[in-house]
Amino acid sequence: MSEKYDAIVIGGGLGGLSAAATLAKNGQKVLLLEKHYRPGGYAGSFVRGRFEFEIALHQISGLNLEAKRGSLYRSLENLGITKRVDFIRLPTVYRSVFPDIDITLPAGRENAEGVLVDIFPHDSEGIKRFLDRVDATNQALSTLQRGAASEKEKKEIKENFFAYKDATLAEVLNKDVKDPKARAVIAQIFAYFGLPPSKVSYLIYALGWGDYLRYGGAQIRGTSQVLCNAFVDIVREMDSDVRFNCGVKKILTEGGRVTGVVTDADEKINSDYIISNVNPITTCAELIGVDKCPSSIFQTMNTKELAVGSICVYMGLDIPQEELGIDDFEIFINSGYDFESLWEKIRTGIEPEDFGLAIYNAAYPDASPPGTTIAVLTTTSYAEPWYKVPPSKYVETKNRVADIMLTKAEKFAPGIREHIEVVEVSTPLTNMRYTGNPGGSIYGWPYAPKESIMYRLPQEGPFKGLYFAGAWTQIGGGFQPCIMSGMMAAQKVIAGIMKK
Ligand SMILES: Cc1cc2nc3c(=O)[nH]c(=O)nc-3n(C[C@H](O)[C@H](O)[C@H](O)COP(=O)(O)OP(=O)(O)OC[C@H]3O[C@@H](n4cnc5c(N)ncnc54)[C@H](O)[C@@H]3O)c2cc1C
Repeated sequence: MSEKYDAIVIGGGLGGLSAAATLAKNGQKVLLLEKHYRPGGYAGSFVRGRFEFEIALHQISGLNLEAKRGSLYRSLENLGITKRVDFIRLPTVYRSVFPDIDITLPAGRENAEGVLVDIFPHDSEGIKRFLDRVDATNQALSTLQRGAASEKEKKEIKENFFAYKDATLAEVLNKDVKDPKARAVIAQIFAYFGLPPSKVSYLIYALGWGDYLRYGGAQIRGTSQVLCNAFVDIVREMDSDVRFNCGVKKILTEGGRVTGVVTDADEKINSDYIISNVNPITTCAELIGVDKCPSSIFQTMNTKELAVGSICVYMGLDIPQEELGIDDFEIFINSGYDFESLWEKIRTGIEPEDFGLAIYNAAYPDASPPGTTIAVLTTTSYAEPWYKVPPSKYVETKNRVADIMLTKAEKFAPGIREHIEVVEVSTPLTNMRYTGNPGGSIYGWPYAPKESIMYRLPQEGPFKGLYFAGAWTQIGGGFQPCIMSGMMAAQKVIAGIMKK
């Protein structure tokens, strides 16, 4: 029988890592069990040839590196992460290329407003109104997080935050901005969120896009693996434990509360508190067991759709970035302005339409060895169409899909194909294989209003002592939300331990 831990964290994705580090930093003896050989889940890196590729991160929000530091930065600072990780502020939000408009949106409210108003002068009032609204929503969230002090602040939170809890981006944006092209430029990172403007939550969009726009998103020097490794180092330095290649196959329960886990190697480890960073579907159905969990949890989860997955074409190029002739980090290449019909095609098809091109050396030049460049093509994709591909045709199909994306990218970056030294392609099925997430979903449940913020699955699991952390639960998917989610779950566990 192993020693008893104050808490066990299952899964070393961002939610699990931040939960374990928060627990350890607060004096709890914690054990993190990760089935893969490295920490991170979707976050992190992989190596092919002489290139180390970032798996996921395009932009992390919540850091506010230029000014007084954002809430995520301050939380990471408390854990000792910011001393170990070099966050790099991105000067532009994105470059958006349409058939007849090519616009680069700089970070900083005034700069971004200037560019938008310059291109769409006829819609300048509406654009300013929308940007003010987004600012007010972000401000309301900050006030909410620190606790509203006055009646005036409470009113502002009600009007600028809670009033939008059921609103989609299109419902809000379309009232302010009239030109469909201006709307498309503003809604461009619907591609990040995986739902079109008519379906994505306004609050989620305003918080993500608003943060990138106002403060600039960030990259991590050396890939997000550096961040994940830093969490692990902190856990270990605090005399707690992390085990890799150590999956969990059972969560043990007794009398309505969790009592421990059984690993894939059949080791039983006891603890009264478990934070599961494994998606809640697998946690409840497989790790605990359908017969043991209350049926209400499955009823809640069965009614939900899954968020989108991704297709990535990771390329190591044998030429320096300057020779590629592209200065921007994140470029969205669009065939048109109608994101609604584009999303319908994404839902049902495999063949990618539009995509993003990220040049990591534009974020920091040493992203790859001297004289080389890392370029990644990314698009969203659902697993269902991929399930229909017979296994014998899978590799051929994903290579064909990569070829389609590359052919489109060549129009924008002529000659890119000739300079590919190594290439790797991932699909929603790759996501599933490496993280176990159903459908290869990158955000858990979709970012629709009814699945977001206060509607998101609560962190408290169906047994006492069980908490969820990560994309599927509060606050939601993405780097900032998942890290915060782990910290929040850890605080709940600490509160429970203190009460005893
Ligand atoms: C291509 C791509 C691009 C993205 N770009 C961005 C971006 O630019 N900005 C942003 O904010 N977000 C981005 N995201 C989303 C973000 O990466 C995810 O939402 C986030 O990393 C999910 O973290 P998580 O805590 O839910 O854990 P996950 O990443 O889902 O990890 C779960 C972990 O649990 C482990 N596990 C599973 N089962 C078991 C078990 N039985 N026992 C032990 N361990 C187990 C898995 O191995 C895995 O390590 C992107 C994602 C992808 C795929």
